[in-house]
Amino acid sequence: MLKLIDVTVKYGSSIALHSVNLEVNEGELVVLLGANGAGKSTIFRTISGLLKPAAGEVKFMGQSIGGWSPDRIVKAGIVQCPEGRKLFPEMSVLKNLTLGAYIHRKDKAGITRSLENIYELFPILYEKREQPAGSLSGGQQQMVAIARALMAKPKLLLLDEPSVGLAPLVVEQMFKTIEKINRDGTSVLLAEQNAFAALQIAQRGYVIENGHLVLEGAREMLCDNEQVRRAYIGA
Ligand code: ATP
Repeated sequence: MLKLIDVTVKYGSSIALHSVNLEVNEGELVVLLGANGAGKSTIFRTISGLLKPAAGEVKFMGQSIGGWSPDRIVKAGIVQCPEGRKLFPEMSVLKNLTLGAYIHRKDKAGITRSLENIYELFPILYEKREQPAGSLSGGQQQMVAIARALMAKPKLLLLDEPSVGLAPLVVEQMFKTIEKINRDGTSVLLAEQNAFAALQIAQRGYVIENGHLVLEGAREMLCDNEQVRRAYIGA
């Protein structure tokens, strides 16, 4: 479904990604593990079209999307939920959600159906729908951010560190919801520092260090890997 082939990305003259090869197959939930500054967000920004690869190719559903605008990439079915939520805090939860559906804005019935699905997935957002998004708790705001991304009906959802700053119990809930989103048919690429929780729900994963993918494999392999355990799981 998504394929990065030998992708190199630079900020000015400094190389942030070195010849990265990464794949997400249809229906998969894939985790991208790495420390601060390893290059996870750079991979996401490249997939979403905010950064252009200096070399290599980004393919989605068989098409080369490396030169496409972010807008066109969203319409093709890749939607990113950025790190740090980026909600409109003064606007109501409902308004934030409907903004997520802007590419389907003419399909009013479709938007209503999407909202119904969202409220089923996140019942609390129905209760809070008229409140300003900024008045919600951190975990609830993260739910709004994920829900807003879902309103665009992505084929592939990019989640950049959804657990950052959340209490452990909320993190657990968040990961259960992400697992459900994936089970309902959306492919997911999940960047996380919370390796333990992410590996519980992912089928496969990659480890990135200093812009290099250093390891890839099935969940079980990564969980058993000494390097992963020491660096990311703390066991
Ligand atoms: P974090 O979890 O902190 O966001 P990350 O794994 O997502 O980390 P990136 O943000 O992709 O890491 O950063 C990868 C490297 O690129 C880092 O060395 C970072 O300093 C550098 N970098 C990121 N954004 C820019 C930018 N706009 N200009 C120059 N260098 C940048």
